[in-house]
Amino acid sequence: MTQATQLLAKSTATFRALKCKECGEEYELKAMHVCELCFGPLEVAYDLNELRRTVTRESIQAGPNSIWRYRPFLPVATETPIDVGTGMTPLVQANRLARRLGLNKLYIKNDAVNMPTLSFKDRVVSVALTRARELGFTTVSCASTGNLANSTAAIAAHAGLDCCVFIPADLEAGKVMGTLIYGPTVMAVHGNYDQVNRLCSEVANTHGWGFVNINLRPYYSEGSKTLGYEVAEQLGWQLPDHVVAPLASGSLFTKIYKGFQEFVQVGLVDEKPVRFSGAQAEGCSPIAQAFREGRDFIAPVKPNTIAKSIAIGNPADGVYAVDIARKTNGNIESVTDAEIVAGIKLLAETEGIFTETAGGTTIAVLQKLVEAGKINPDETTVVYITGNGLKTQEAVQGYVGEPLTIEPKLDSFERALERSRTLDRLEWQQVLV
Ligand SMILES: *Cc1c(COP(=O)(O)O)cnc(C)c1O
Ligand SMILES: [Zn+2]
Repeated sequence: MTQATQLLAKSTATFRALKCKECGEEYELKAMHVCELCFGPLEVAYDLNELRRTVTRESIQAGPNSIWRYRPFLPVATETPIDVGTGMTPLVQANRLARRLGLNKLYIKNDAVNMPTLSFKDRVVSVALTRARELGFTTVSCASTGNLANSTAAIAAHAGLDCCVFIPADLEAGKVMGTLIYGPTVMAVHGNYDQVNRLCSEVANTHGWGFVNINLRPYYSEGSKTLGYEVAEQLGWQLPDHVVAPLASGSLFTKIYKGFQEFVQVGLVDEKPVRFSGAQAEGCSPIAQAFREGRDFIAPVKPNTIAKSIAIGNPADGVYAVDIARKTNGNIESVTDAEIVAGIKLLAETEGIFTETAGGTTIAVLQKLVEAGKINPDETTVVYITGNGLKTQEAVQGYVGEPLTIEPKLDSFERALERSRTLDRLEWQQVLV
């Protein structure tokens, strides 16, 4: 018996196998992510009967105020997972943004304030590192577009695991500092994310490390289901009508879908159709292109966009994301870098939420879908904001004005105030004519 199966035997674990998404072949619950028969991706399978028998709304609400309130739906055996307060982020009713866009029931799921590193990646990493520890790994690693490196380094520090992360060398300063501070080994690779990822696949084979998004990917990706569970719980145990989320590898999008499905299957919410719409940056939009052209394969692209956190040119779960958007009557759209900056500003000015480029992409796509009549104003629509703007300040530099510099004197203040009001009036006149 391996250490992991011993743990399983002792615990109340409800996950039972790794299962190929393509051919259905099942595997032991170890560190692997590709089917040996057909090379399809592996996904965690659960004992749904056991979940139906043991989980209730009340049992969830009695749990911790973090993703671990949903522990029976997550692939870990331990009763004491790594809990750094990840999850249970605000679901904000976005009335001012809704009015601006002409919608009536709009919500923002605000993972810009997720703990501990201010992006949704803390969810997937909390799960992956808990599982890594169970499987006996002492060094953890990842191929990252920035946020994943932040999360892996921070949560590894908390858990006392050794950590080595790989990032493209051209990342934003905030993302690099937000990794270095935790003291991991950081490899900045001269290349784009897809090249970093290929290198990491080779390292995973030779070094026996736990790569959260490679050999631990089936466990890691399950963490994104909590974005679905939380929204359902926060809406009063109901599903929304429409969700809009960003797409990089496509994983989070497909897992929100899986989360909603599991809640229906276990009887925690009533079944209803939910439309799934996805957002990409035009400079890296292989999934949006496949959707637009009605293809069921992804043609890889070379990324060129300010939305670096979602710049994956060869997305592993792209085809599954296209499939979900199609069968739920949703859409996948892309927007330009200028529209992304405008999206960041629109969210900040209407709702007081400063998001990074991925969030700007999602808001800009939301706006585009509304203008094209592809979101019904009365649909309960949830938009996923997945990262924090303080990490990508370069993106909005030069688009937000400057502070008014004054002397520490009342008349200096009064003159500056008068000038700024005149400027405001002039701007308004320009808008009006
Ligand atoms: C990684 C990331 C995503 C998308 O993740 P996938 O699951 O790979 O599609 C979205 N937003 C932010 C901010 C991210 O860091
Ligand atoms: Zn298979």
